[in-house]
Amino acid sequence: MDLLNTLVDKGLRRELPTREEALAVLATSDDELLDVVAAAGKVRRQWFGRRVKLNYLVNLKSGLCPEDCSYCSQRLGSKAEILKYTWLKPEEASQAAAAGVAGGAKRVCLVASGRGPTDRDVDRVGKTIAAIKEQNEGVEVCACLGLLSDGQAERLKDAGADAYNHNLNTSEATYGQITRTHTYADRVDTVQKAHAAGLSACSGLIAGMGESDEDLVDVVYSLRGLDPDSVPVNFLIPFEGTPLAKEWNLTPQRALRILAMVRFVCPDVEVRLAGGREVHLRSMQPLALHLVNSIFLGDYLTSEGQAGQADLDMIADAGFEVEGAGTSTLPAHRSDVAAAAAPAGGCGAHDGAPVCGPAGAADSAGTAGCGSACGGCSGHAEAAPVAARADAGAVRPDLVAVRRRGAGTDLAPNA
Ligand code: SF4
Repeated sequence: MDLLNTLVDKGLRRELPTREEALAVLATSDDELLDVVAAAGKVRRQWFGRRVKLNYLVNLKSGLCPEDCSYCSQRLGSKAEILKYTWLKPEEASQAAAAGVAGGAKRVCLVASGRGPTDRDVDRVGKTIAAIKEQNEGVEVCACLGLLSDGQAERLKDAGADAYNHNLNTSEATYGQITRTHTYADRVDTVQKAHAAGLSACSGLIAGMGESDEDLVDVVYSLRGLDPDSVPVNFLIPFEGTPLAKEWNLTPQRALRILAMVRFVCPDVEVRLAGGREVHLRSMQPLALHLVNSIFLGDYLTSEGQAGQADLDMIADAGFEVEGAGTSTLPAHRSDVAAAAAPAGGCGAHDGAPVCGPAGAADSAGTAGCGSACGGCSGHAEAAPVAARADAGAVRPDLVAVRRRGAGTDLAPNA
């Protein structure tokens, strides 16, 4: 297939595909699916071998958010029966993090609901980072606290944070349909602040919110323009009690095509399979390991994932290996998290390679919120349906298990 040969060649050269090529990946048929996975798998193996990085989520503060992100079970007015609690103490967070590290996680992601941190919150998270690093030598810590004010990214960096996550989630054109309390430009601004402070930027998307193929390609190209080191790809978890509870419009095949498209557009970036993989990929999860080089271990923020041991078994059974703490995640031509990030704007990852993605993202308008979509998601409607929608129109509490263990409970974490 000419399209796939072209995309493999471009991926191996770190060259940006055209928008038409990215759209064509999303339009491939089920008969072509294994060819698409095999092609994107070549690009994945070129830059990341057969390694899988494990990340572990710790929800520092759950629910009670004043923002209105339609996909989120922690949103203002959410009726989802999730755990609600305020800030974990540093030792409580460290205990939860240790379970993930013991399970093989190389990075701990500290997430807090809310529009953004106060300076006091940043101090609090700094103490938590110190506690985690003291007890878990070599662990990477990523903070995900929402919109950052001036100076906060620098303070997090000084406190020992390695990375900062803030997702764009969807295209600029449709952003206003999923959130009204902050804007797309706010989100872009926070990713840029993290980048400029020397934190490794992590920013991704949520698929399955009723977006079009063009929306998906738009957000992935915008992400590439922002040059994050990691791109989490979430699949909407339609939580009962949120506006998007009935938005079941992904199939495993569709989810795999989306992951392949992200890999072709961001060939040498950590592409992370995030919230919703169990719910939407189901028994097809192992195929996704040929596309992504990173996953979350165990549970998500407000929903339960499959058992951590099942994640490890899946990786081994599929012929992949868990990435060790002493191994750089990113290819040598990219700076790893321990090194200073490139200045904001432009694409520091592609030295010597042809142009990076459209720079429009950096100029667009917006605001932010916590940015975490990692398992807190549910989605929004309105835009055109994208795939088979056999299940659309019904909530599926049988498929979405609310988290009842780990951080904020007396029960052991799943890791
Ligand atoms: S995604 Fe973050 S900002 Fe938005 S409602 Fe959820 S917790 Fe709040």
